[in-house]
Amino acid sequence: MSENTPVLEIKDLSVAYQTPTGSVEAVRGVNLTLYPEEIIGLVGESGSGKSTMAFAVMRLLKGEAMVTGGSIKVLGKDVYSLNKKELRQFRWDQMAMVFQSAMSALNPVMTVEKQIFDTILSHRPQMSRQEVRTRAEELMDMVRIDRKHLKSYPHELSGGMRQRIVIAIAIALHPKMVIMDEPTTALDVVVQRSILDQIKDIQKTEKFSILFISHDFSLVAEMASRVAIMYAGRIVEMTDSHTLKLGEKHHPYTDGLLRAIPQLTSEDVVIEGIAGNPPDLRSLPSGCAFHPRCAVAMDRCKSEVPIPHPQSIGYIECHLYSEEGSHV
Ligand code: SF4
Repeated sequence: MSENTPVLEIKDLSVAYQTPTGSVEAVRGVNLTLYPEEIIGLVGESGSGKSTMAFAVMRLLKGEAMVTGGSIKVLGKDVYSLNKKELRQFRWDQMAMVFQSAMSALNPVMTVEKQIFDTILSHRPQMSRQEVRTRAEELMDMVRIDRKHLKSYPHELSGGMRQRIVIAIAIALHPKMVIMDEPTTALDVVVQRSILDQIKDIQKTEKFSILFISHDFSLVAEMASRVAIMYAGRIVEMTDSHTLKLGEKHHPYTDGLLRAIPQLTSEDVVIEGIAGNPPDLRSLPSGCAFHPRCAVAMDRCKSEVPIPHPQSIGYIECHLYSEEGSHV
């Protein structure tokens, strides 16, 4: 495997939920490539398919949800070709995930130390207890929690500390990719800021790639080098975080999300939302799924599904950027 082998390669991925009234596609033909040590931000409103896509990558889809098309490779390996034993080894070792709720990720009746030890020893049974202890202490230092809290139970820690422990456990085995699904959403702004700074520092030291999922555009722009914008199960724009501002060429949905970031004027905080609601995936609008909410929709948007139009960085899936429709 060469140095530039993508850490994650998603091709044409579709995921559907089987419901009593039929199949509902939550992810529709998505492509995404994450390179070594890269951070990609994945943004979109609730229900846009972000978490479903992440769960598909980790092979954590449950119940009625299943991959219906495409492929997912992590470090060149098709995740869906692994048997159960291989998959257990692959998770944590090569890919890990940090969920929003630390409390549900931690075992309330086990000390932090025991949880870190169990994770490491289940994958590296040959390691001595001293080696595991050294790694556990190193992890506590990385997430800036006093080593004495190795002896603490989750309920004895604050929300921010618990989330840091979850991050420490996720990176315990030096995975090459970590998916972070709204990792700081439940926390207050100050704690959120400090955890994000730590994630950036740890990522540089441990050299892993991150797929950073959030509905908060400003956080993503700060964390990621590239940003994928998801709407109704499609990545409708892939761009560079430096160009992520109003006035640059963007998908109208991206512009809407940018306008929804609170802007401080001399007297007030001004927030402009996007009109309407995300579509019902059971009956998507024809043509461009965004057309009922799009202020610049054209006639063809109601009948023609837009294809991705390459930009200097990434692409935009919108008729405005096709040759005939180009307004830019
Ligand atoms: Fe708006 Fe049409 Fe572009 Fe869809 S394709 S975002 S409706 S302009």
